Amino acid sequence: MPAFSFTSERINESELRKQLQDPAAGGYASFEGWVRNHNEGLPVRHLEYEAFEPLAIKEGERIVAEAVKRFGIEHAACVHRIGDLAIGEMAVWVGVSARHRAEAFAACRYIIDEVKHRVPIWKKEHYENGDSGWVNCERCAAPTTGPAEQGADADHAHATAYDHSHSHGASGTHDHSHSHGAFGTHDHSHSHNASGAHRHGAHEGATVKQGQTSSPATASALAATHARIGAPVPDYSRQMALKEVGAAGQAKLRASRVLVVGCGGLGVPVISYLAGAGIGRLGLIDSDHLEPSNLHRQTMYALADVGKPKAHLAAERVRALNPDVDVRPYTTRLDALNAPDLIAQHDLVIDCTDNFSTKFLLNDYCVQLGKPVVFASVYQYEGQLQIVQPGSACLRCVWPEATRDGIVGNCSEAGVLGPVPGIFGGLQAFEAMKLLLDLPGQLKDELLVLDLLTLTTSRVRTKRASACPEHAISRATAAQAAAVAQANAAAASGTAPNQRGQIGGHGTPGPADAQVATSPLELSFDTLDQAHDAGFDIVDIREPHELEETPTPSAHARALPMAELLHGQPPFKPTRKTVLVCASGRRSLAATQELRERGIADVYSLRGGVKGLQARLFT
Ligand SMILES: [Zn+2]
Repeated sequence: MPAFSFTSERINESELRKQLQDPAAGGYASFEGWVRNHNEGLPVRHLEYEAFEPLAIKEGERIVAEAVKRFGIEHAACVHRIGDLAIGEMAVWVGVSARHRAEAFAACRYIIDEVKHRVPIWKKEHYENGDSGWVNCERCAAPTTGPAEQGADADHAHATAYDHSHSHGASGTHDHSHSHGAFGTHDHSHSHNASGAHRHGAHEGATVKQGQTSSPATASALAATHARIGAPVPDYSRQMALKEVGAAGQAKLRASRVLVVGCGGLGVPVISYLAGAGIGRLGLIDSDHLEPSNLHRQTMYALADVGKPKAHLAAERVRALNPDVDVRPYTTRLDALNAPDLIAQHDLVIDCTDNFSTKFLLNDYCVQLGKPVVFASVYQYEGQLQIVQPGSACLRCVWPEATRDGIVGNCSEAGVLGPVPGIFGGLQAFEAMKLLLDLPGQLKDELLVLDLLTLTTSRVRTKRASACPEHAISRATAAQAAAVAQANAAAASGTAPNQRGQIGGHGTPGPADAQVATSPLELSFDTLDQAHDAGFDIVDIREPHELEETPTPSAHARALPMAELLHGQPPFKPTRKTVLVCASGRRSLAATQELRERGIADVYSLRGGVKGLQARLFT
């Protein structure tokens, strides 16, 4: 049977359906568009459909072929009525048979939407009052209405949805005043294109004969139509050609929801590949704004984008790359308060952050919620990859003495060559697709370490701790409590907390580490002298070369590099309140956590570090 055809006879759907039957097909989906007895408040008696058949058939065939390729379906066909139709008659029929129902539904929907949008078919309504008119579809007339918003209701199961300018020209009679009965009265300001000229002649005669296409105006209209219908659509054929993927795999990707945490060096390749692959929904979270120093490794962005929120930039890029993807940007920072909800809304999480506190936060909630998470970390010329999923070792099983943020350093402080995160992000995207497609060879119970300078890989076996389930949950609970405590501290803005009361002093029963975590670790001051006046000792833990470049902005500070601070007994009185300072607040936070765990209670990290103080001076 032809992929797309017109008929002036009644559409015999049961005959058509039989022709799509295939023993290999497990699903069949069909759409029928019927003639409705009213349109926009006017009772309709009957309808006339007309088409410019040579072009319409070509375009219809192209749409069906696209659907076959896109969704990997077995068979599809579309039949459209032309001529005179009575109320209740079927105007258009689409049938699809496929291996699985998901592709059948998706392809059927695609075909009818595209036919309505692209195929040159027009209808004339004959009303009860004796008037008649080429249909002025309100939704076509509204300039902001896109094809995606077109419903599948039978009344619009014709070509009214198709290109705005074209349908004006096509219908010819319409102006925006919505004159249904104004047959033959043209609003010439709306004769957008030459197809209008062609159609004017056509509808005035009330019938269209094929081949009435001789005017030069008509030729240019057809060229315009061709240019428009050539608009590209996402095409997954290259990945679907793999026998491990195929249509079923494509449907899996389309049905999946992936949360990408971080839109930086690791996130950029992850986001690009997953968008290209046709993942159904991508959640993108990043609270940072693009900086010029990001661009050598974050290749999705442009210099002109500097200063804009990365999550929005990335989402924009995804939309441009693949309109099939439902992309949702979040510009907040992932924390213990928003993490559970965000994670729960997705099937898979990809950690593209460069800080350990977020990695552990993700670890804890993903373990708790039973969601797989693909981790990667990059340090200078090497990196590592680990997947945590239900039943496998988690981050805390591997790192029982949780590595602190900043102890290892991040890109801004340690330096990195652009392709390094690119390679690891690529690996993450690939492992994510292996998980989603259930491909063999998944990285499981192993940690992959890859050194790009020597091009050597090593795989470290990971073992799940027997205590894993409990401690993951308690850590998550602790993180939650910490977030609440921090939120409260922030609300009390600027006032130094009552340290004694907050450090394990609440008497709330809970795991030992939760008590440490409930004390605020970070404090904010406008100047370091303010901290000094409030009775704090100030220790700058940056390296000597950093101090040379940017000296500590206070005469009361003492310099003590982080490594020395953490080596053996801390060289300051544990009874004094101490605030640690570094460049960005990451290393000082890490050191604070470390010292707290060693039992030193009155130590705090300066939020935002020296950079934060400078920023405050200028704002
Ligand atoms: Zn564990």
